[in-house]
Amino acid sequence: MDYKDKKIIVLGAGFAGFQCAKFLNRFFPGQITLIDKNDYHLYTPLLYELDEGKVKLPIKTSAKFIQKEVSDFHELDYDYLVLATGAEVNYYNIPGLKESAITFKNLEDIKKLQKVPAGEILIIGGGFTGCELAMELAIKLTGERLKIVDASTCILPNLDEELRKKAERRLRKWGVEIFCGYKLTKVENQQVFFENGKVFKFDNLVWTGGVRLGRHKVDEFLRVKEEKNVFAIGDCASTSPGLIRPALNQAKIAAENIKRSIEGKALAAYKPKVWAVVVPLGGYYAVAKIGKIKIAGFIAWFIKEIINFWYTKNYSR
Ligand SMILES: Cc1cc2nc3c(=O)[nH]c(=O)nc-3n(C[C@H](O)[C@H](O)[C@H](O)COP(=O)(O)OP(=O)(O)OC[C@H]3O[C@@H](n4cnc5c(N)ncnc54)[C@H](O)[C@@H]3O)c2cc1C
Repeated sequence: MDYKDKKIIVLGAGFAGFQCAKFLNRFFPGQITLIDKNDYHLYTPLLYELDEGKVKLPIKTSAKFIQKEVSDFHELDYDYLVLATGAEVNYYNIPGLKESAITFKNLEDIKKLQKVPAGEILIIGGGFTGCELAMELAIKLTGERLKIVDASTCILPNLDEELRKKAERRLRKWGVEIFCGYKLTKVENQQVFFENGKVFKFDNLVWTGGVRLGRHKVDEFLRVKEEKNVFAIGDCASTSPGLIRPALNQAKIAAENIKRSIEGKALAAYKPKVWAVVVPLGGYYAVAKIGKIKIAGFIAWFIKEIINFWYTKNYSR
């Protein structure tokens, strides 16, 4: 099979797309095009530091890069297409939420968060991102009241209980109030309304309560169902847990499967694995679960630093 006549497009230069283009480049002599609406690669694990310089990484790739927002991938001209467009914020159709809240997902968000005016800051969504941001703001700001509100029975529900308690203690020690079991029903006139009848006023509202993962249904080989020669990886694929490691792993499998497909070989199945989780909580402190090992404090923070350093130095190599 002649490789060099084929055209491969990777849509999205986030973690999954960038990595996939990198793997494709190792074997594919034909045209590889990487498309993204932005002209940078966003390093989300450091977004909580609200420092643009740390998260806006240049696009350095051997693929042909095109900056363009694609609304319908069917309009692209390809032999193989890899969809890696990430997750979208999910507002769950809650009235007033989209109009009133800052999200915490991109560069525009951190620009808004850098200048949050004084007063009551309400973060809705007590998952990893909400807690990371709350701790950072608690340390950076003085005099403001910070609340984290979550619909479930606890914050950080995906974390081990022992680590969760440590995280809660740290947040409370820094003055963050935590409210669980509060399901948001609407936002109106600088107030949020909950199903349990409670109402909170706010000056600044941050929504970290949900993203829509898995828009594209894929099979075990990461092929998009009902499409020909289209793969989906990372947060936009139905196999995604919404984390970076699995996105990088899927990128490798998709590249490999394009190669196998061109060569007429059997495809490789994607096998999800359990990954480590590290949650930075302000200063030199983090909580981490790596395999069965639980760590809290400086060492966990240092592990995260090593990961950040390694990724930001090597992502384009
Ligand atoms: C604040 C925050 C902190 C996080 N921290 C961690 C962490 O510490 N560890 C961890 O494992 N995960 C973390 N995550 C989750 C992690 O960022 C995602 O799982 C990861 O980004 C998924 O990679 P992706 O390539 O699928 O999507 P993304 O990295 O989101 O990339 C998608 C790309 O597609 C582009 N795009 C989207 N639509 C279009 C379009 N229509 N046309 C052209 N381009 C388009 C976007 O510009 C973007 O570059 C965090 C997420 C957030 C928001």
